[in-house]
Amino acid sequence: MTTTMKHFDAIIIGTGQAGPSLAARFAGAGKTVAIIERHKFGGTCVNTGCIPTKTLVASAYAIHVAGRGAEYGFSVGDVRTDMKRIKARKDAASARSNKGVEEWLRGLADCTVIQGHARFQSSHSVLVNDEVLEADKIFINVGGRASIPEMPGIHDVPFLNNSSMMNIEFLPKHFIIVGGSYIGLEFAQIYRRFGSEVTIVEMGARLIGREDEDISQAVREILEAEGIHIRLNAKCISLAKRDGGVAVGITCEEGPPEIVGTHILMAVGRTPNTSDLGLEQAGVAIDHRGFIIVDDQLQTNVPGIWALGDCNGRGGFTHTSYNDYEIVADNLFNDDHRRVSDRIMAYALYIDPPLGRCGMTDAEIRQSGLRALAVKYPMSKVSRAYEKGEAQGFIKICVDAETKMILGAAILGVGGDEVIHDLLDIMYAKATYTVIRRAMHIHPTVSEYLPTILGMLEPFV
Ligand SMILES: Cc1cc2nc3c(=O)[nH]c(=O)nc-3n(C[C@H](O)[C@H](O)[C@H](O)COP(=O)(O)OP(=O)(O)OC[C@H]3O[C@@H](n4cnc5c(N)ncnc54)[C@H](O)[C@@H]3O)c2cc1C
Repeated sequence: MTTTMKHFDAIIIGTGQAGPSLAARFAGAGKTVAIIERHKFGGTCVNTGCIPTKTLVASAYAIHVAGRGAEYGFSVGDVRTDMKRIKARKDAASARSNKGVEEWLRGLADCTVIQGHARFQSSHSVLVNDEVLEADKIFINVGGRASIPEMPGIHDVPFLNNSSMMNIEFLPKHFIIVGGSYIGLEFAQIYRRFGSEVTIVEMGARLIGREDEDISQAVREILEAEGIHIRLNAKCISLAKRDGGVAVGITCEEGPPEIVGTHILMAVGRTPNTSDLGLEQAGVAIDHRGFIIVDDQLQTNVPGIWALGDCNGRGGFTHTSYNDYEIVADNLFNDDHRRVSDRIMAYALYIDPPLGRCGMTDAEIRQSGLRALAVKYPMSKVSRAYEKGEAQGFIKICVDAETKMILGAAILGVGGDEVIHDLLDIMYAKATYTVIRRAMHIHPTVSEYLPTILGMLEPFV
């Protein structure tokens, strides 16, 4: 039963990567703000996404290098994975951030922190627990969750997703990962390095289908070299129980029609948390997949309501959600005119070696009709990479033949997630690639090759 009604200058639903900073901005401006969280402070990235997975990536990397001791000139005996300690390390990293977010919010003057599920009652009011909160400005930062595909047998077998993965402290004997995209590939390599047999089942004709074919192929080779099985073109996936395990039925062009494993991870995309938010009470429009429709400044169709982060379908990363916060806050508090369309897409895939990406793919450049120049350089020729014994992958850069601006780049290789920023910042500066040509970079680094290889550009389209 509704018992109280409270008014605020702003209400924020969700404590993901945009909400807490926005709350701090309102509080800092002397405004009253309520921020509501129904589960764990910090949301996906902190509790079930980036932070725990990258902590696991670090454990997997250490185990992998230890296993290559002979190559580097040391021996450690039998390398054994201790899943309980790996999980404890991961939990500590998540807890640190989760606690940090909660303490930060609770310490803000004029910020009311409420734990509970928020639901719109109208375009200006939200019901949470027994309270109705009112505000002229409401910000939705509710994030998303793992999608559950409607495939035959899905309700008959137990399966894991990115959230339930966080609780396991045993090593699956044979892990079947359904979905060969970013999340699935990271878990695949992590668990292979921990010691599981791993099979990736992907419906598409190649892994990470949004990337260019040469990247999909190189990533496939990296994973297969570590003994990961990959089944592509799995058009009709079905699940069934088997003695002591689970079976995944696959209609593949080649290979056995069924794989039997001990555990399944579903990594087939994300669903926005918008169906239980009462959006219809507020009149907020969503698209056919449930993403909240926003304009270039992240306002919904209802004046006074904004949507930030994964729930607006405009990013899907921690940095895009945080950038959403910056856009909204600068427009509201600094009388700025920042727009989502001004940002350049950039992200990383955290397999080892990582893939750093920015700007357009080759396919997008071809479709754009732009005349482009390109260079592709193998990491095997990058001295820092072979000194480290990590020489897989390549650097690929495309520039506009007329303007000399960088159009897009992919760095699959050691340090790729960091080095990509050399190119990204030049793109933001709206400078030509020739600026990098004259820059003196530090030796020995991966970055030092950029000035040289940008001198090797050749006609691309
Ligand atoms: C396995 C995995 C690995 C990832 N790795 C990376 C990575 O390396 N780099 C990267 O950039 N991104 C990564 N991501 C994506 C990243 O985690 C998200 O893009 C990021 O967390 C942004 O989320 P958000 O701000 O939209 O909201 P979220 O972080 O999802 O937070 C939303 C919050 O809202 C709360 N909430 C929802 N509905 C309500 C309601 N009705 N009432 C109250 N509270 C509500 C939720 O409980 C949640 O805490 C990864 C994701 C996954 C799943």
